[in-house]
Amino acid sequence: VVHWQVVASQRKRLSWVQLAGHKGSFKAGEEGTILKKYAENEKLCFERLSGDVLEQFVPAYRGTVERDGELFLKMRDLLTSFNGPNVMDCKMGVRTYLEEELVRAREKPKLRRDLYNKMLEVDTEAPTAEEHKQQAVTKLRYMQWRETISSTSTLGFRIEGIKSSYIRRLEDIKQTLKSSDFFLKHEVIGSSMLFIHDHTERAEVWLIDFGKTTALPDGQTLDHEKPWQEGNREDGYLWGLDNLLLTLRSLPAQ
Ligand code: ATP
Ligand code: MG
Ligand code: MG
Repeated sequence: VVHWQVVASQRKRLSWVQLAGHKGSFKAGEEGTILKKYAENEKLCFERLSGDVLEQFVPAYRGTVERDGELFLKMRDLLTSFNGPNVMDCKMGVRTYLEEELVRAREKPKLRRDLYNKMLEVDTEAPTAEEHKQQAVTKLRYMQWRETISSTSTLGFRIEGIKSSYIRRLEDIKQTLKSSDFFLKHEVIGSSMLFIHDHTERAEVWLIDFGKTTALPDGQTLDHEKPWQEGNREDGYLWGLDNLLLTLRSLPAQ
């Protein structure tokens, strides 16, 4: 099942729209830049992407900056040059949590009231009788349930926003991914393709969100297509991209 989740789309004056992520994690930067709350992983990814073939598809990185005592990653705002942009955030891959998160969640099966409430907001019948009784669920249970309500686990991609056809750009990205040294050596988790278009002919796709993208041990590589089995660290990124392309191609012309 594909869940087309149309979230936010058009903004006239405001040049910036945030489709996913925590509200407090972004700040406007100077002219044409945005600031994203610092994460070590993501910083390392930006540094390693410098000089990689994929760099052309990633928002330009301008280093770290401090604001009100907090650290941020500064990057180009992809929306600035658009006029009334439509934006779609498509999360790639067959899972959105790292294997180590799974291990940690399993080791510490702490009951979480907040995650139970989040589950209720989506579907009051999702919690089991037991979970209703204790008014809480474990993080592991929540993470695995969350994947089942979207197409992450069944198709390897998940769309948050509006749809359109960007097939040529995606083909280009696919070929580049296959020749990228960075892609070969990283487990790409929870990363998105950001689709942006406006009323003119312009349509762009960018690779964003490397907060959970992790380098593999030396010498290890992924093919991003094989099924995930815990331990093999596969992410299903290319498999998701192929499904996305198939889906876009099957849409009627607009
Ligand atoms: P999550 O992990 O929950 O997906 P996050 O906090 O890691 O979220 P991102 O996914 O990186 O945040 O970004 C959230 C949203 O902000 C994106 O869906 C997009 O709408 C917007 N956004 C992120 N980076 C840029 C950018 N460089 N230019 C314009 N918009 C951006
Ligand atoms: Mg994201
Ligand atoms: Mg993220």
